[in-house]
Amino acid sequence: MTDIAQNIAQIQAGIAQACERAERHPDSVQLLAVSKTKPLADIQAAYDAGQRQFGENYVQEAVDKITQLKASGQCPDIEWHFIGPIQSNKTRQVAENADWVQSVDRLKIAKRLNEQRNSTLPQLNVCLQVNISEEDSKSGASAEQVLELAAEVAQMPNLQLRGLMAIPERTDDDASLGRQFLALEQIFQELQRLYPQVDTLSMGMTGDMPLAIEHGSTMVRIGTAIFGERAPKPKS
Ligand SMILES: *Cc1c(COP(=O)(O)O)cnc(C)c1O
Repeated sequence: MTDIAQNIAQIQAGIAQACERAERHPDSVQLLAVSKTKPLADIQAAYDAGQRQFGENYVQEAVDKITQLKASGQCPDIEWHFIGPIQSNKTRQVAENADWVQSVDRLKIAKRLNEQRNSTLPQLNVCLQVNISEEDSKSGASAEQVLELAAEVAQMPNLQLRGLMAIPERTDDDASLGRQFLALEQIFQELQRLYPQVDTLSMGMTGDMPLAIEHGSTMVRIGTAIFGERAPKPKS
């Protein structure tokens, strides 16, 4: 077994354990493998271990990897999630290549993705990114803005509103983190009441996975614990 396969097995066991503690079904939490900055060989190793959902943060890197793997025919049923900040001049590449976008945080971006998604493709699945920590530096719609944005996205024919994503403030304080996750869980429940197709609450990373699952996460985004530490972010 490769290290990557072993890491995935360990995380799946951690997910199952957290679900058991939270009295949730182990299948209610999906694992997104965050492969940013990592080579195709690592993605292939994770794929061979049964992993199918992958997340990327940088548009050019994502498009290069998606294109190369498609051409190779090696990993036909990968589902690609774009989870990084999106500038409006990059929306076309995301609309044409991703299966999911989890980082939609404003109307302008949603409109462009909807216009640029080819209507012969399946709808582009969308999570709205919420800034639950209220830090100015973070991307994300505010809790107040997000329901308005959801109402717009729900009307867009080439997008499918699936849920929410958040990156909490980095902290060792579990109580503070728990408050942030709880806030997101409450917005998510409200969104589900309004839009029955909403099924995805994307929160939890390498450092805070069990707590996120306790607060209803349905998708954890794990990079470091699968692929190891990352080198500093590449220039774009
Ligand atoms: C990099 C990244 C992750 C993965 O973080 P790890 O701490 O390495 O697990 C998850 N979500 C987003 C949005 C990221 O940018």
